[in-house]
Amino acid sequence: MKQPAFSSRRRFLGAAALGAIVPAPVNRAASPPGGCVFQEPAQNVPLSGDADVIVCGAGPAGIAAAIAAARTGARVRLFELHGCLGGVWTAGLLTYIFDFDKPGLTRELTRRLDERGARGGRNPGRFVYVPEEMKLVLEEMCVEAGVKFQLHTRVVAAFRDGAGVRLSTIITDSKSGRQAWTAPVFIDATGDGDLGAQAGCEWETGRVKDCPCQPMTMNALAVVRDVKAIRAFTSFNGTDAFEGPGGHLTCVEAFKKELKRAGVEASYGHPTIFPVRDDLVMLMLNHEYGVLSSDANGITQATVRARAEVHRLVGALRKLGGAWDGLQVAATAEQIGVRDGRRIRGRYTMTKRDLLDGARQEDGVAHVTFGVDIHAETKEANKADAISHGGFKTKPYDVPLRALIAKDVDGLMMAGRCISGDYIAHASYRVTGNAVAMGEAAGVVAALAAKSRRLPHEVRWSEAQAVLSKGA
Ligand SMILES: Cc1cc2nc3c(=O)[nH]c(=O)nc-3n(C[C@H](O)[C@H](O)[C@H](O)COP(=O)(O)OP(=O)(O)OC[C@H]3O[C@@H](n4cnc5c(N)ncnc54)[C@H](O)[C@@H]3O)c2cc1C
Repeated sequence: MKQPAFSSRRRFLGAAALGAIVPAPVNRAASPPGGCVFQEPAQNVPLSGDADVIVCGAGPAGIAAAIAAARTGARVRLFELHGCLGGVWTAGLLTYIFDFDKPGLTRELTRRLDERGARGGRNPGRFVYVPEEMKLVLEEMCVEAGVKFQLHTRVVAAFRDGAGVRLSTIITDSKSGRQAWTAPVFIDATGDGDLGAQAGCEWETGRVKDCPCQPMTMNALAVVRDVKAIRAFTSFNGTDAFEGPGGHLTCVEAFKKELKRAGVEASYGHPTIFPVRDDLVMLMLNHEYGVLSSDANGITQATVRARAEVHRLVGALRKLGGAWDGLQVAATAEQIGVRDGRRIRGRYTMTKRDLLDGARQEDGVAHVTFGVDIHAETKEANKADAISHGGFKTKPYDVPLRALIAKDVDGLMMAGRCISGDYIAHASYRVTGNAVAMGEAAGVVAALAAKSRRLPHEVRWSEAQAVLSKGA
């Protein structure tokens, strides 16, 4: 037997006393380089609780799913690996929302942000928000709805029932150790489709199974002395125009010239800076190419490079003095922004055709008005065109409930980035207004299924619509 890939023989022997190093199974897709695996000893995991609906991941889709399921009368548990609710909105420091002008939770979130003075602009469909305030709003809403949420907790495994078709139990890992949780219905809102993959569903990432995929971006917040002094370079100054004088693209070009004057160039071809509130601004400056969302080492390297780039560019601007005097990074995101993760195979797979046709669906859970945004997949492509829109015109279209229901495993739904769609369709429906609408629909359907002892695909969309029209 070959030596295992441990750093020293002593560590290897110590570990082997508890478990066993064995040759990797021949059919294992991802065999380790040493050709061996460590066989973890079986252990009893405490059954820590049950629920009617378990939601994994608390990004825009997950919080919407959890709140909607709880308001429909289900006992709901929500697990999130970061230390706050909100996913890309908060841990990812996104600060800009697209395609939000829809009925339901989107309106309530907008109202709650407005009550705190935490939203910029008047457009209900796209606006700036303050991420710290978003954390509070989401915590308040989950507490009020009775969602039991656990932060700092990663979903690490999933098990099906005896017949092997239905998902019955998940395992989480946290400071409390490994814990088992059961439910009749689960929702994968991990963005990266972790739960679906753990449960054994088919999935895809990027254009083909394993990339190329859209680049990752490390969002950041910075403070300036006087936001008015840098107005020529900041996008969305109370206007959400993309083109034309004063529009986003004009500001991007002016900002690029300013970076050049500072002797630096951003790795993202559309470096963006925009006001969030008072002297707080948001920075979107970098692209990290070819990193898979399931590669922890790759993400680590990308995070380190991206954070260094943000600080380098901000430092260079500060040295220019003048309007940039006093500019400093207030925070880089806890989570580098991942655009492409796994897309779990559902009972319907959305494709470019849906976008071309403006497909309407009887079980449409979200009406998408956002077009296609494909960030360059390589450095070379970024130089030519940082964002492509797919070369065709998208007609507003519906996301069907069937794209939110797993095909290979019963009792499992998806919401947000990881629903069933191809690379092009995903590049459109993934923005956060749609993630919320999908989450809300999935939450109601999951709750109805759990309460009536049915599977999600046995619930008619009209039943969920009746609940939603009353305000779940
Ligand atoms: C750089 C960038 C810029 C973008 N710009 C915009 C924009 O301007 N406007 C817009 O509306 N959208 C934008 N998007 C798209 C949008 O942010 C995403 O598609 C959106 O995050 C989808 O929401 P989600 O809830 O599916 O995923 P996420 O926000 O990624 O949430 C998933 C959550 O699950 C958690 N999680 C993951 N794995 C596990 C696990 N195993 N166990 C427990 N928890 C887990 C994560 O920590 C996270 O909180 C942008 C995305 C990126 C990356």
